[in-house]
Amino acid sequence: MTNPAGFLRRLAHVASTLIIASMIMNHTSFAQSPTWRIHDINRPHPPVITPGSSTSPTPPSDAIILFDGKDLSQWTDANGRPSKWKVENGYMEVTKGSGEIRSKQGFGDVQLHIEWASPAPAQGKGQDRGNSGVFLMGKYEVQVLDSYQNQTYADGQAAAIYGQYPPLVNASRPSGEWQSYDIIFRRPRFANDGQLLQPARLMVLHNGVLVHDNVTLWGPTNWMEYDAYAPHADRLPISMQDHGSPVRYRNIWLRELPEPLDLRPPMAKPEHAITLAPEVLARYLGKYEVNPNWHFNLKHEGDKLLANFSGQRWLEIVALSERKFAMVKTAGDLEFDLDSAGRPKGFVFRMGGSEFVAKRVAGE
Ligand code: MG
Repeated sequence: MTNPAGFLRRLAHVASTLIIASMIMNHTSFAQSPTWRIHDINRPHPPVITPGSSTSPTPPSDAIILFDGKDLSQWTDANGRPSKWKVENGYMEVTKGSGEIRSKQGFGDVQLHIEWASPAPAQGKGQDRGNSGVFLMGKYEVQVLDSYQNQTYADGQAAAIYGQYPPLVNASRPSGEWQSYDIIFRRPRFANDGQLLQPARLMVLHNGVLVHDNVTLWGPTNWMEYDAYAPHADRLPISMQDHGSPVRYRNIWLRELPEPLDLRPPMAKPEHAITLAPEVLARYLGKYEVNPNWHFNLKHEGDKLLANFSGQRWLEIVALSERKFAMVKTAGDLEFDLDSAGRPKGFVFRMGGSEFVAKRVAGE
């Protein structure tokens, strides 16, 4: 090595070239996602489709009914007073100038079903046609708008997450027809010191069609901007917007969702496993028959004991005692019938509420 400094420089150059190359390769494995400023009219509009004729589902038994068409007992105005929205014919309707309506109860993670109808015949254009909105936690808006043959900016059309995400498709029904949103919402998580741990996420179906596939929100939605996340309560009211248009709502119910699990499978290992001496373990090896068509085989690989059932995959089992063995990953156990010398005559295999009696037919 005559010139170590030069060699190191070349090495550094090769390394950085490799890193950049791998970054490019990583990049090209994803669709390029162009960026847009808020409410850009040039942002591509999602394709228009005709949704299926889904009807209004009855709520499941564990749903909290927020509006069944009769009264606003679960709702107030923005100041906690009775709402001036009107109720008739099984729906509630925005009363212009009365402000938003909000649920008395607060909610965090929910599956929300809500139906709405924009006025018919349609009045106004763009954002002035049947505008309202469903606000999760009063902060995260799924836009309500008459987007049937009505162009506006893509991130503000019906089912858009307002100012952030256009829907994947425009599944709007004509003015005045009932439409549905099925929304799965995960609230943002904040640490005790207010730091954002997890942003909010939304999955939305518009008239039964997927329009947001678990997207991550940049922050609370807003007009002409989006706000940065600021720590807030775990449960806040759901609200609907008074944007001056007599939009109707009906059949509003939700299910509160449990805390999301982390990605680990719910795997537990058998407790109290013991190690048997190799000469003891050797006694168990061989073939066991449930009936002429069903049999078990037991073999060992190193210090591991493996069992299979009628030629299926080999699965590890461990000893809990000389009589009892347990499968490692599956909730199944084997209880051996031993002779006076401790040799197995057979076993009972129990799994998933079933029981099989197997008799030993051959040693290994
Ligand atoms: Mg709106």
